[in-house]
Amino acid sequence: QIEEWKKLRGVATTSKDGVHVELAANIGTPNDVAGVLDNGGEGVGLYRTEFLYMGRTELPSEEVQFNAYKTVLEKMEGKPVVVRTLDIGGDKELPYLNLPKEMNPFLGFRAIRLCLEQKDLFRTQLRALLRASVYGSLRIMFPMIATLDEFRAAKAVLLEEQEKLVAEGVQVASDIQLGIMVEIPSTAVLADQFAKEVDFFSIGTNDLIQYTMAADRMNERVSYLYQPYNPAILRLVKMVIDAAHKEGKWAGMCGEMAGDKVAIPLLLGLGLDEFSMSATSILPARSQISKLSKAEMETLAAKALQMRTAEEVVELVRSIGE
Ligand code: PEP
Ligand code: MG
Repeated sequence: QIEEWKKLRGVATTSKDGVHVELAANIGTPNDVAGVLDNGGEGVGLYRTEFLYMGRTELPSEEVQFNAYKTVLEKMEGKPVVVRTLDIGGDKELPYLNLPKEMNPFLGFRAIRLCLEQKDLFRTQLRALLRASVYGSLRIMFPMIATLDEFRAAKAVLLEEQEKLVAEGVQVASDIQLGIMVEIPSTAVLADQFAKEVDFFSIGTNDLIQYTMAADRMNERVSYLYQPYNPAILRLVKMVIDAAHKEGKWAGMCGEMAGDKVAIPLLLGLGLDEFSMSATSILPARSQISKLSKAEMETLAAKALQMRTAEEVVELVRSIGE
């Protein structure tokens, strides 16, 4: 099997009936890029920038960030790189920000909420990203967007920094796609409206599942409710993909679900355009997709959407065999 996977390294990901989807990787540092290329990744679908901010005593400077983003873009040699702006809070803390402890950190002051309040921190990151944009194919993504107002506010800050840089004579790429993570149910439900304003969606199922099921993704006592295959989750995923396509935009997924063997046939059938996963999952996923007919998976997904329980969905997928 490993030999078979190796042969798939340099080829595009295509279903049995000839439909192309993109298999990208999730990374946390520039050092991870080697693994992405080794495993035939067609892009970076999620660069979690939190690690730049962690394990130090103060915020990383614009220069430190610029160098990291530039390195990743250069090493990816023109393949798309989706960089997510800072998603701190929840399970990830930054001691030097001295934020008060919260009762419900996953429902609290985190990610874009923090960036829109601590704008200096946000502006520094955006400037570093914009300056790096000329070294490859950069896409910028905002995490934890719950309302259109948040997206518009974040975009406005980005455009302000872009104008400032251009006025300073700094080169900025003119084709940077701007997207959001869909990981809060309100955003999935209003995806048709978001789709008119964003360039792409990336579905963050790690959080979308916990918020939809009201089951803390870290709490083992409620882990039985953390159900990727629950038809409720599948319907939300479908809403997001359909909304994107209706506006001519693309929809990806960067939660764990995107690399999951049982989920992949369903996601292919639902029309997902980009699957972003850990680098080591890419070749197995490419092999799996090459054996699946997208048209058949559409039928399978339509059935799954009508099931009552996650167990029924799993059984359905298992029934198609390998
Ligand atoms: C997600 O929520 O699915 C996601 C990819 O982001 P993170 O796991 O970093 O919250
Ligand atoms: Mg998330």
